[in-house]
Amino acid sequence: MIDLSVLSATDIREGIAGKEFSAHEVAEAAFARIDALEPEVHAFNQLTPELAAKAAARIDALVAAGEQLPPLAGVPAAIKDNMNLVGTRTTCSSKILANYESVYDCTAVRRLLDAGALPVGKCNLDEFAFGSSTENSAFGVTHNPWDLERVPGGSSGGSAAAVAAGMATVSLGSDTGGSIRQPGALTGTVAMKPTYGRVSRYGCVAFASSLDQIGPFTHTIRDAALVLNAIAGKDEMDATSVTEPVPDFSAGLEDGVKGLRVGIVRDMLELEGLAPEIKASVEAAAARFAALGAEVDDVDVPAARHGLAAYYIIGPAEASSNLARFDGIRYGHRIDDASDVLDLYMRSRAEGFGPESIRRIMLGTYALSAGYYDAYYGQAQKARTLIIEDFAKAFTDYDVLITPTSPEVAFKIGAKATDPLSMYLSDVFTIPLNLAGLPGVSLPCGLSEGLPIGLQVIGRHFDEATMLRAAAALEADLALDMTPPLARQA
Ligand code: GLN
Repeated sequence: MIDLSVLSATDIREGIAGKEFSAHEVAEAAFARIDALEPEVHAFNQLTPELAAKAAARIDALVAAGEQLPPLAGVPAAIKDNMNLVGTRTTCSSKILANYESVYDCTAVRRLLDAGALPVGKCNLDEFAFGSSTENSAFGVTHNPWDLERVPGGSSGGSAAAVAAGMATVSLGSDTGGSIRQPGALTGTVAMKPTYGRVSRYGCVAFASSLDQIGPFTHTIRDAALVLNAIAGKDEMDATSVTEPVPDFSAGLEDGVKGLRVGIVRDMLELEGLAPEIKASVEAAAARFAALGAEVDDVDVPAARHGLAAYYIIGPAEASSNLARFDGIRYGHRIDDASDVLDLYMRSRAEGFGPESIRRIMLGTYALSAGYYDAYYGQAQKARTLIIEDFAKAFTDYDVLITPTSPEVAFKIGAKATDPLSMYLSDVFTIPLNLAGLPGVSLPCGLSEGLPIGLQVIGRHFDEATMLRAAAALEADLALDMTPPLARQA
């Protein structure tokens, strides 16, 4: 039997190419694990065995014909359920889109599948990606494979849990303020937000269009590089995707960090609320970088401390505008006893959206309303500019920066459910990167009481290659086994 808890995407492709096993058998192994673990984890909103079987048949036909295999041949892949894929519903884990059938493919998903991946299903998320725990889903919470009583993080918690449990080898999430990296940290997976514009957002339901970016969850940095290569690059359908050349992100991953300038963002490490074990683990990682030959020093990014406040104006402002389209007419849930069109809009939306979505819409419309626009939205944009400038300054002296990914390890389900402000704090280290458009990757750097700790490595704009090289050096040095106990049993 193929043990998907230990195989990387690279291993799977090689195994298929070397005829150790077929893509069909890989798909079977993935669904056997899903049968065993999904009832406890609930990572998926929808499973797609027929789509996976079709994709596997294509790969096995290539093998039979002796043809070259695409880079992600036969790799089980899970997709966050805010990305369209024909043949699936795209629900955003919202009642308002519960029956919405995708009418076209999200570019990043299409590219992942063209690269040979097998789509196993659509993953649970916080409704419309609002949240840090996947508890804000209309379809139930996802459980962390490391401890089923804890959250997997969010909003891409289903995508993170699917990979952590070995139900998929790679997955796609979206990250507006940390929704890939924070669940990556909480589930012990590798989780990357590329530079804004590196990956097309076409077909990913918009949360905040100036912040959203699609990226991978994987077990290894090399796999993250492979997935990024598959999905990156200009797309005619997204004007914010860039023509910047896409290098081979796997090349040079083993070149090490000798002479690389690594900045520890000291003012972030001194932040109140950061768990002491996480701070210690990040300091230890910094020491490992130094031992590996990097030049490690402290750096400050002072304006980053305003990131959270600026984000909770800009994010909801853009969300309130993007969510206006869910009006019961063009999309989604519609009440059937409307007295007039206004009644139809209002009650369809009130019934369809969950409480966090309504909170975001209210925050956003308030911040954008006449009389408040300059005081809130205008100020937040100014803070955003300062954050961009402070990062640019830091990158004149450093090649990569490091911070914790999350201020705490996975918390108990329900622990923050009634306290949105403490939930918002989960992304204090990740949000500044979205505001500045910078790439960041979270990788496991240790355990605290049996739960994973994530380190965030930040790169320059469009320099994911250096960021991934640094992360790969640390990954090789630490050589952690990040298989959750649950995944080992299956
Ligand atoms: N947790 C943050 C929020 O709730 C980030 C979400 C995201 O990146 N999609 O907005």
